[in-house]
Amino acid sequence: MDFFPIFMRIKDRSCLVVGGGVVAARKITLLRKAEGRITVVSPELCPELAVLKASGAIEHAERGFREDDIDGRVLVVAATDDQQTNRQVSECCQQRCIPVNVVDQPALCSFITPSMVDRSPLQIAISTGGASPVLARLLRSRIESLIPASYGRLATLVEGFRARAKKCMPDTELRRRFWERVLEGPVMELFLSGREQAAKDALDTALDAGLDERDTGGEVFLVGAGPGDPDLLTFRALRLMQLADVVVYDNLVSPAILELVRRDAEKIYAGKKRNHHTLEQGDINDLLIRLAKEGKRVLRLKGGDPFIFGRGGEEVDRLMQHGIPFQLVPGITAAAGCASFAGIPLTHRDHAQALVFATGHLQDGTINLNWDMLAQPRQTVVFYMGLSGLPIICRELVAHGMPTSTPAALVQQGTTQNQRVLVGDLQTLPGIVEAEQVQPPTLIIVGNVVSLHQRLQWFRPNAPPTTGSLFASGGAVETPVPADVADHAG
Ligand code: SAH
Repeated sequence: MDFFPIFMRIKDRSCLVVGGGVVAARKITLLRKAEGRITVVSPELCPELAVLKASGAIEHAERGFREDDIDGRVLVVAATDDQQTNRQVSECCQQRCIPVNVVDQPALCSFITPSMVDRSPLQIAISTGGASPVLARLLRSRIESLIPASYGRLATLVEGFRARAKKCMPDTELRRRFWERVLEGPVMELFLSGREQAAKDALDTALDAGLDERDTGGEVFLVGAGPGDPDLLTFRALRLMQLADVVVYDNLVSPAILELVRRDAEKIYAGKKRNHHTLEQGDINDLLIRLAKEGKRVLRLKGGDPFIFGRGGEEVDRLMQHGIPFQLVPGITAAAGCASFAGIPLTHRDHAQALVFATGHLQDGTINLNWDMLAQPRQTVVFYMGLSGLPIICRELVAHGMPTSTPAALVQQGTTQNQRVLVGDLQTLPGIVEAEQVQPPTLIIVGNVVSLHQRLQWFRPNAPPTTGSLFASGGAVETPVPADVADHAG
């Protein structure tokens, strides 16, 4: 983060604007909205500012800038077309730690002004840290269209009830839940549909009733986070991520996705790695139950889909035993994500009419699977957790009748900027993978559909700006990714 975002109170405080042209006028409009007391220093004023001066809305010193102009100011804006003056204003202010903005010259600024969606008292500020003001404006117009104008009035309505709510519900946690229920429930619906008086009455009644203390409000959201790329989350996943008080996540959840969880939510790493369990499954179940019983909204965030090699079934079972309310949100499973991003359709009229998901997890050095079934022709087999068992997988498939020439691929960190696709066949793939520095998680796809990869590949990740895994490692050290993330056809 290059800039620390804040909202500053300037009401009735003294602000200085150096410059009297249209650019200065634009800034002054904004400062006046926040009710700052404005002095303009400039030998001339544009007509718009002259009108403001005449009405007494701004003070005007009709001359050039002097160093003592900044005395007693809470904020200074320099908007002259003279470089020298702008620089001088910036230096004086920075020496005395007075916040200063020089219009369109980020290097001279100690603060920058964001693009804004103004639904006062609700305000949304967007900044790209000066990287692309156009992008910020684009985002602003999107947000403008998403947030009904009535949100500002909604904030005012809520404000009117805050003191009373505080008195009826002194407990902060209870009060927060009360407001969340109000703002996610029927009151909100009434308000947004234009029935503002009805919404007010409903809020009145809700406050009289209060929130039942026995209803702890605890709940578990079992959410599939998809294969890695945050854009592949579902809307529901995102909504619940924003709602949760605490998140229990595993090592398949990428930091980019964790970033989207409510900022002040407590984050608990329950990562599982082969032979490296941070929390046992039983402990995780107990933790979810305990947190929910404390009244928390617990987000259990899992890579891919919770019901595909995710032990979601066991967790749901335990929650039901304890009568804990839960929501279950499917996610894009690794097979779907990796296959799409590798350009390998999992079924295809000419190649595969069936699809099998299997676990390649080693148990006591072997993999316990129905190999006869997996070695059938005209199907695709996807192995999860198969990296260390790859030689055994290829050997067993061949031993059970699959031709050694059957195409096979390994997809590393599918859908992320670290994605690599290694392609070979049942004979060559283990050697190819061994020769490369492969980083988990990886997925193995076996079947004739893999031959389509050459033609259908479309996703070309850039070499990542940082080395290391894009997945949470739970403290484990990851080897850097080689820059040549290009496809490897074997
Ligand atoms: N519930 C998850 C799977 C958990 S098992 C899902 O539906 O995707 C963990 C295995 O998933 C890993 O060992 C790996 O085989 C696979 N996996 C998950 N994300 C992956 C990714 N982005 N790229 C490749 N494989 C992935």
